Amino acid sequence: MYAIGVDIGGTKVAIAVVDETGKVLIEEVIPTDKTVDPPVMIERINKTAEELMNKSGIEKKVVKGIGIGSPGPLDSKNGIITYPPNLENWRNVPIVEQVKSYFNLPVTLENDANAAAMAEKWLGAAKENEDFAYITISTGIGAGFFAEGKLLGGSRGNAGDIGHTVIDPSYGQCPCGQYGCLEYIASGTGIARRGSELAGEELATQQVFERYHNGDNKIKPYIEDVFRIIGVACVSVINTLDPEKIVIGGGVSKVGAPLFNAVKDYVRQYALNPDGRKTEIVQAQLDQNAGVIGAAALCFNE
Ligand SMILES: [Zn+2]
Repeated sequence: MYAIGVDIGGTKVAIAVVDETGKVLIEEVIPTDKTVDPPVMIERINKTAEELMNKSGIEKKVVKGIGIGSPGPLDSKNGIITYPPNLENWRNVPIVEQVKSYFNLPVTLENDANAAAMAEKWLGAAKENEDFAYITISTGIGAGFFAEGKLLGGSRGNAGDIGHTVIDPSYGQCPCGQYGCLEYIASGTGIARRGSELAGEELATQQVFERYHNGDNKIKPYIEDVFRIIGVACVSVINTLDPEKIVIGGGVSKVGAPLFNAVKDYVRQYALNPDGRKTEIVQAQLDQNAGVIGAAALCFNE
């Protein structure tokens, strides 16, 4: 059997045919066109998925379903994308209904961080874990939690949205209205913003990290502080959920050892339960294609 995985993002949509072992047979990426109404964009997604099935010679009868990962907030139970901040014109869009009526196949919707957590559970860093947290740190920060072997969805599928947990109000006001949210401080966007302020010139996240690696005397202590704050967030996750492991993915996690060592040091000191201080902190394994694989996993793991 096969599944179609659809990963909707603020700038692009990835669509793939995935087999039962998680192998991507064929994939296509189309731009997220915000100048058209969501139903027009969904029509393009449907057409692209159909083309991929035709190209790969996969007939509908061997397709188990279509899984969609989307930025939240959403309502996974009713199949509606509700208020994603980075898809400004997508408000209360009944995507599942539109895709289902086109293909007449089962369609599942999950928020993208939860879908990526599914992918890590299926094929990545959390294969052996029943209780783990997946945290993604890229343009935004999100998370997906597995508890007792099951994805923790919440009443509408938005559980795990830790990006807007307040860490330290002194860092200033987040676009959500609160002061000092984790995402405002430690996301790629936050790092580019604050790094640019400190450098006195416009820097991309990657350039801020280059200066960190070169030992820049303003950027280095600042990035070390960001790593500590990610540690603070991990301690809250450990104290709340008692996971065996925390898997960290997303672009910012690519910085690797300095981040993971700082987070481990913080967790070893401050997790409340001495056993919780030993929680494994590891890098995600599926950053490439994690979105479409996770979306396809939604179909195989029902
Ligand atoms: Zn916020």
